[in-house]
Amino acid sequence: MSITLTNKIEITKATTSKINSVDFDNLSFGAVFTDHLFECDFKNGAWQTPVIKPYAPFSLDPSAKVFHYGQAIFEGMKAYKDEDDAIWLFRPDENFKRFNSSATRMAMPEVPEEIFIGGLNELLKIDAKWVQKGNGSSMYIRPFMIATGAGVVANPSDEYKFMIILSPAQAYYAGEVKVVIAEHYSRAANGGIGAAKAAGNYAGQFYPTTLANKDGFQQIIWTDDATHTKLEEAGTMNVFFRINDTLLTAPTSERILDGITRKSLLAMAEKEGIKTEVRSVLASELVEAAKNDSLKEIFGAGTAAVISPIKGFSYKDEYYEMTKPADSYAELLKEKLTSLQNKLSEDTFGWTVKV
Ligand code: PMP
Repeated sequence: MSITLTNKIEITKATTSKINSVDFDNLSFGAVFTDHLFECDFKNGAWQTPVIKPYAPFSLDPSAKVFHYGQAIFEGMKAYKDEDDAIWLFRPDENFKRFNSSATRMAMPEVPEEIFIGGLNELLKIDAKWVQKGNGSSMYIRPFMIATGAGVVANPSDEYKFMIILSPAQAYYAGEVKVVIAEHYSRAANGGIGAAKAAGNYAGQFYPTTLANKDGFQQIIWTDDATHTKLEEAGTMNVFFRINDTLLTAPTSERILDGITRKSLLAMAEKEGIKTEVRSVLASELVEAAKNDSLKEIFGAGTAAVISPIKGFSYKDEYYEMTKPADSYAELLKEKLTSLQNKLSEDTFGWTVKV
């Protein structure tokens, strides 16, 4: 993926850098952004000249369709700096493909690879000093696209804005996470948009998650909308269950995001000799396993936290907790994956791509 856009891109550099005002040892996730952003508009049926310019707010017509009909999609990916100051992306082709499947599902135009990957590479080169070294440190990358066409008519926009913004991130520990298994609300339905990284999928989770928070749970494990019996995924993570020594996770479907961390962990676990099973896991099965102590671990997997261990879960008003095993799969896999991403161990899978 050595795609560059250097010749066609219009670059305006920031006159001063904000970098000295940033405390890289105390970053809240997703709160600080680098000096520049990448932007490309879609108009008259074509992608226009891409630009890199100083990070700043921008204005839109109040009738822009993104505000009314929610045509908005995004991605979440990371870049890492190795000991020799080279910058690496982790499986960027997967994010690129997923972004365009989301675009298709939301009736938005596909973004060409030279804009998505080429634009990202150039932006990372310009803000390279913002990418920090060391295990767990990374640059969180947020590509997104919104419908900018004006008019309160419920049909697809004919104008769009694609942007990439960058936010430096530290190793992220979510603390001891307790989850509740969904019995009423749903995040996705068959035939819906659950498999797309569409903004509305997240907005729809906020209210039920707030209710769960009030009861002392940080996250919800979503279940299938038809029967509320199959365990699917959490807020921004796929979910893994370890029953005895087998690692289980739900198959991807129209209702589940095809997570890149999920598929990487499955491949890594297999290489480590861990038995994996991709199949629907029932809430009743989890309760049974918790009761007979065969449930050893539950963890979420996603780009932001990599792996987030789950301490306990609530289902039908009963709370179940696990004792962390000495040979935690969550710890082992997190260590293996982050050291590969940070280029501290050899990438035998060929997942890392140099910028
Ligand atoms: N599920 C959902 C709903 C998500 O938003 C994310 C984050 N992109 C994931 C799973 C994990 O996907 P990935 O490993 O590609 O970050």
